[in-house]
Amino acid sequence: MATSIALVTGAGSGIGRAVCRRFAQAGIQVMAIDRNGDEAKSTASALEGAGHQGMSCDVASQTQVNETVENIIKSMGKDIRTVSLINSAGITRDKGFLKMTEEEWDAVNDVNLKGTFLTTQAVCRAMVTKGLTGSIVNISSISGKGGNMGQANYAASKSGVVGFTKTVAKELGSKNIRCNAIMPGMIETPMIATIPDKVQAMVKQMIPMGEIGKPEDIANACFFLSSDQARYITGQTIEVTGGLGM
Ligand code: NAD
Repeated sequence: MATSIALVTGAGSGIGRAVCRRFAQAGIQVMAIDRNGDEAKSTASALEGAGHQGMSCDVASQTQVNETVENIIKSMGKDIRTVSLINSAGITRDKGFLKMTEEEWDAVNDVNLKGTFLTTQAVCRAMVTKGLTGSIVNISSISGKGGNMGQANYAASKSGVVGFTKTVAKELGSKNIRCNAIMPGMIETPMIATIPDKVQAMVKQMIPMGEIGKPEDIANACFFLSSDQARYITGQTIEVTGGLGM
């Protein structure tokens, strides 16, 4: 039976895990991908419905990404109808930029920007070869719009994701592959656990809606952008921030 699949990176935690749940609820077969394979498998096994898989893959490694995507496409055979890719894998290494090391710069850009390029390229190559349609959603950040103290590496990677998204949208629009980005504001996940409570309280005061967002808020926007409801939307960036940084 022809089926729709969703490949989700960063699926072992936070936003990626919520995205997996949202797609599974809609009857879509989820491939949960994370550097932490155990967490990816634990995400997949907790999902509604059958056929979900969890797997280990470092998105910053072209060898691992190509192998993972190849295995998924091969195992699905001719059954795939549409493909969604949600790039949620991401890391921070915050520090004032005068003190930031080359390693801290590279680590963040390798995962957030290069990782997004590698997975999108591998999935889109397979889609174009097989004549499949679908959508890519890249998780950027509101830091990529306005910059953020201590996040020169992160903000640069997340702005880069937007430029990349628009380029993919232009290059693959005629193949019926859409590509959009989401800029989350502050969302309650393990990623923000390292931010001191005082700073979190300060940011919260700047959010017009007065509350920190939930992973499901981002998952719902990912699902919308990947669905037929968004069939004429490509190259766009949606801010899901409760109004922060608008
Ligand atoms: P998280 O730390 O809870 O989850 C990130 C996941 O990515 C983890 O499971 C981690 O293992 C995985 N990962 C890290 N490096 C990887 C790699 N090289 N290959 C594969 N997987 C890797 O964080 P989150 O809050 O869920 O973040 C998800 C995305 O949302 C990230 O891109 C992040 O930058 C973005 N974002 C988050 C917030 C927020 O406030 N939480 C705000 C803006 C943007």
